[in-house]
Amino acid sequence: MSPPTGSQPASPLGQPHNIAAGYIFDLDGTLYLGDDLLPGAQRLIEALISLDRKILFLSNNPTRSPDDYAAKLTRLGIPATREQVLNTIDTMTSWLVRHHPDATVFPISEAPLKQALAAAGIGMSEDPTEIDIVIASYDRTFDYRKLQIAFDAIRTHGRARLVTTNPDRFCPLPGGRGEPDAAAIIGAIEGCTGARCEQNTGKPDPFMLEAALERLGLAASDCIMIGDRLTTDIRMAIDAGMPSALVLTGETTLEILQSHPPEDHPTWVLSRVDQILPAASWNGHD
Ligand SMILES: [Mg+2]
Repeated sequence: MSPPTGSQPASPLGQPHNIAAGYIFDLDGTLYLGDDLLPGAQRLIEALISLDRKILFLSNNPTRSPDDYAAKLTRLGIPATREQVLNTIDTMTSWLVRHHPDATVFPISEAPLKQALAAAGIGMSEDPTEIDIVIASYDRTFDYRKLQIAFDAIRTHGRARLVTTNPDRFCPLPGGRGEPDAAAIIGAIEGCTGARCEQNTGKPDPFMLEAALERLGLAASDCIMIGDRLTTDIRMAIDAGMPSALVLTGETTLEILQSHPPEDHPTWVLSRVDQILPAASWNGHD
């Protein structure tokens, strides 16, 4: 896709006038959709690199490792290192290591989360009499057997707590499609056990943002969160008093935004992601 020439088109609801120290990006619907970069994404990241800004890529999706995301971004034309990617595999692992290092967990997940938990020394079991924590996540291999194990650990034996990597209802796919995400697994377990999910380690939980700021070595007020979802990306930033930009290339349309009360609104609204840099900063970058 070709970048626009000349100065930036004005955003309908304003854009930043200053350049921040750190930029935290959602991925799906913000920088790419499926295997296609969204307009302006590549030239924006190139400009931020040339301006020596700190960049972090943030995803709620635990079905791919941070290494996988770094490789995908690089393949699509956005150079990224593993250290620049933080997802819910990282945050769930660090939450368990920090708060429940001796717990035996039952991850309802695909292979990458289990591999990270094993590498961190977290004990795992499918025996309901041993399980302390059931982890609901985005798991496309979810089945009745896994639900029965969670049911027995939580209700029959009354010993396990329910937590989740992320609260998303669905993962967006190109063409307006999607597939059920972790909320479907949480709902199935809550529905049969009556338990409530006690912890989320993804957006919009503060644990995710604290992990992001720790990785960047910056304060919330020095960064901008850029994403396409009001209930995760933007909510997390608002709760932390952090500037935020909603980009209208993913889940949220202007109509959806306007149906939400002002307290749910981001600092800025962008029709394409490269509008996050003030127009004047593009001189020499086109
Ligand atoms: Mg998104």
